[in-house]
Amino acid sequence: MSPSLELSAHVHHDRERRDRPQFAFVAERLWLDFVNTDTGVRGPDALHDFNRFVLWLEAAHVLDAERSATMRRRSEQQPAGALAVLGDARRVRTVLRALAERGVFASDVRMAALSEINRVLGRSAGTRRVELRPDGSFARAFVPVGDAFAGLLIPVVENAADALILDQLGRVRRCADPRCGRVFQDETKNGRRRWCDMATCGNRAKAARHRMKLHA
Ligand SMILES: [Zn+2]
Repeated sequence: MSPSLELSAHVHHDRERRDRPQFAFVAERLWLDFVNTDTGVRGPDALHDFNRFVLWLEAAHVLDAERSATMRRRSEQQPAGALAVLGDARRVRTVLRALAERGVFASDVRMAALSEINRVLGRSAGTRRVELRPDGSFARAFVPVGDAFAGLLIPVVENAADALILDQLGRVRRCADPRCGRVFQDETKNGRRRWCDMATCGNRAKAARHRMKLHA
């Protein structure tokens, strides 16, 4: 490749990167980060449209750049199919939010999540693989065959299934800022993580405490 071509490819890549929405991944679990895509407080919903959903899956390392581009192209050819996937993703997200917030004490919520997880898993055929990531780590992957759209939610529901299988719901918390709404997996040793993110909610709380002290 000539230097000028290389340069223009680079510029194009940067532009594409800049135009992409920024998504936050603060929950320590894919399924909880997916639930958090409905907290539009810090920007538009990641399920606002199909393109955005696919970019979110890419940002979450669920899709690689090539499959993400394929999905976006396919959605232009099959807009109705893409719309159906989006509706389905919203439905799954509602059920998983309930699981995150109330699953630990409500068995009916757990059962509803279970049937939703099995509905998604039962619909899609594909190949399971283990893939090497660019950073050298390994990850489970699911490569759908046939209706590729149907497989998009698999990694998310599998991750939620893991929370049930590994009995981790007791460690799922809601951010202590009532305006926030984000959920996360508390991985601290003492189990006392309070904030979705120290840089935003945690910092706001610290500043508020500080103001209170000054006015006392
Ligand atoms: Zn928060």
